[in-house]
Amino acid sequence: MTPSPVWHPFTQHGLGEDIPLIARGQGAVLHGADGRTWIDAISSWWVTTHGHAHPRIMAAIREQSEKLDQIIFAGWTHEPAETLARGLIEITPGPLTRVFFSDSGSTAVEVALKMALGFWHNREKGGHGEQRHKIIVMEHSYHGDTIGAMSVGARGVFNRPYAPLLFDVTAIPFPAAGGEQATFDALDAACRDHAAAFIVEPLVLGAGGMLMYSADVLAEMAAICAAHDVLFIADEVMTGWGRTGTMLACEQAGVIPDILCLSKGLTGGAVPLAVTLAGEEIFMAHWSDDRADCFFHSSSYTANPIACAAANANLAIWREEPVQARIDALAALQTEQLAAIASHPLVAGTRQCGTIAAFDIVADSQGYLSSWSVHLAGFGKAHGVLIRPLGNTVYVMPPYCTTPGQLQTIYAVVREGLEAAGR
Ligand SMILES: *Cc1c(COP(=O)(O)O)cnc(C)c1O
Repeated sequence: MTPSPVWHPFTQHGLGEDIPLIARGQGAVLHGADGRTWIDAISSWWVTTHGHAHPRIMAAIREQSEKLDQIIFAGWTHEPAETLARGLIEITPGPLTRVFFSDSGSTAVEVALKMALGFWHNREKGGHGEQRHKIIVMEHSYHGDTIGAMSVGARGVFNRPYAPLLFDVTAIPFPAAGGEQATFDALDAACRDHAAAFIVEPLVLGAGGMLMYSADVLAEMAAICAAHDVLFIADEVMTGWGRTGTMLACEQAGVIPDILCLSKGLTGGAVPLAVTLAGEEIFMAHWSDDRADCFFHSSSYTANPIACAAANANLAIWREEPVQARIDALAALQTEQLAAIASHPLVAGTRQCGTIAAFDIVADSQGYLSSWSVHLAGFGKAHGVLIRPLGNTVYVMPPYCTTPGQLQTIYAVVREGLEAAGR
């Protein structure tokens, strides 16, 4: 066979790593075309919530595909999108009244930033306030890989070549235990400097290394923003859909964001779709009889009917299946496994938030490019577990259907991987 022309994401093709061909996915298990199987310990990069090929989501996709595949969404609408928007309004806090569709977490973030900037621009134009452009971000954050999303994310090896094009933001320190006051002070100072919005991942900074902070800190940050009229944007692209133990991470802090980004688990992880929810004030800032004030954002597949049907099936699963009980059970199993591995000499900083468990490997190499991630991901690939550490941070974030036996296997392989490196 000729070499594959596929250019993979976040893959150094020069290293010649094994790239398995996956033919089928069922529950927490991926089946290779060559008969190998893997337990999906990272929910296929944080998207698969209920497990692969949930029958209800698959049926919804099949049914919708026979009715309406795609329709322009500017000036037209369809039943799956209308139902989904109403369903989302029902499960999110009351003040969020408007749903804007897009296709990925990155676009949900771009939309959120544009909504915030448009809000201040249109208000100023209408004589109700000042121009505000500045976006406040948290150190170590990740919000996606498009230029705007990279601009509000941590700078580093991921985006060094593009750095000259990224826009300026004000970064506040991560609220590490004991250092929370420095975060609050920096946020307060940044808010006073005419900021437009603060964007943050609630409770868990995912790609930044599964860094966790408390609900109290989240609540305090939201309060500081509110005191200065700075829009609070919650990027729940990863934390949403039960990952942190509740449907939304913000719930745990009683925080109602001004703008909320959801994607990944929105369709149960089956097909790409994203939404950005906003309150009435932000919507109304774009409402007038002047077309120039409308929200100028669209992508070809905005609110694709098949993707919306998959998301409606996901909502039905949340309503009708014991999803919360599965999450609670998985979280309890994670606590046990994490406690057992905590005493390993190479393991430090064990932490958990809901279904997400993480720890750091005690080693001299740091950062995303550390050889630990390469070693353990490769070891997992060779031993039936899909894991992908972030530098020297190992995390386990499997689908909610993962059985106790499967979770045990995941941790056993991680442990063997740690020991294999020592030999
Ligand atoms: C994954 C992620 C994104 C980007 O989502 P994509 O669908 O990969 O574009 C944005 N924000 C957070 C917090 C994420 O984890």
